[in-house]
Amino acid sequence: RASYLGIANRQLKRLGALVESILAMSMERRNSLVMKMESIDLIPFVREIAAAQYMRKEKVITIDVDCPEGEIIIVADKTHLANIINNLLDNAIKYSGDRVSIKVVCTPDGISVSDDGIGIPASSIPYLFDRFYRVPQGNTQNVRGYGIGLYYVKSITDKLGWDISVRSRPGEGTVFTIKFNYRNES
Ligand code: ATP
Ligand code: MG
Repeated sequence: RASYLGIANRQLKRLGALVESILAMSMERRNSLVMKMESIDLIPFVREIAAAQYMRKEKVITIDVDCPEGEIIIVADKTHLANIINNLLDNAIKYSGDRVSIKVVCTPDGISVSDDGIGIPASSIPYLFDRFYRVPQGNTQNVRGYGIGLYYVKSITDKLGWDISVRSRPGEGTVFTIKFNYRNES
């Protein structure tokens, strides 16, 4: 119970920080979005976010976090990085049937999130990171969303100098891959 409360508490703090950054984003231009860069111990960071998403229990969720032995230290903004991973996991959970199997892979070069959900038609891929874009499909209309999650993810990865790409096949699943480019390293 203590460990669940700990996770809930940290997620609440994260939500508070998210509200702050959304307010900041609506007041300023997106280009002046401020990043608070710090060293992040990636593996425990990702594991905790995965554990919190797993606790949603809205459907049968399996999340496998696959990381190498040892530490991966990256430099990024903690709040925004957590939001990125949460957005990708949220989508993997939302756009799937009544059960979903998710795999998160962390390497020193990047992170990928794959699911075995409904997938995305090839014709929608070019618009996926556009603001307010949602795949116009009967099967997603009953899932709530604003179409800003991936737009936000792309804004932040751009800001950090990282790349994000997607591979998907309808009915089989989707993989989002983020590559850290270490543009900020000197
Ligand atoms: P929100 O703003 O709450 O995140 P959203 O989930 O609709 O709303 P995005 O996260 O930007 O918005 O995703 C855009 C669209 O891309 C979704 O509406 C969905 O159609 C599609 N999509 C995103 N991730 C996946 C996924 N893992 N599997 C299938 N479709 C996806
Ligand atoms: Mg979303």
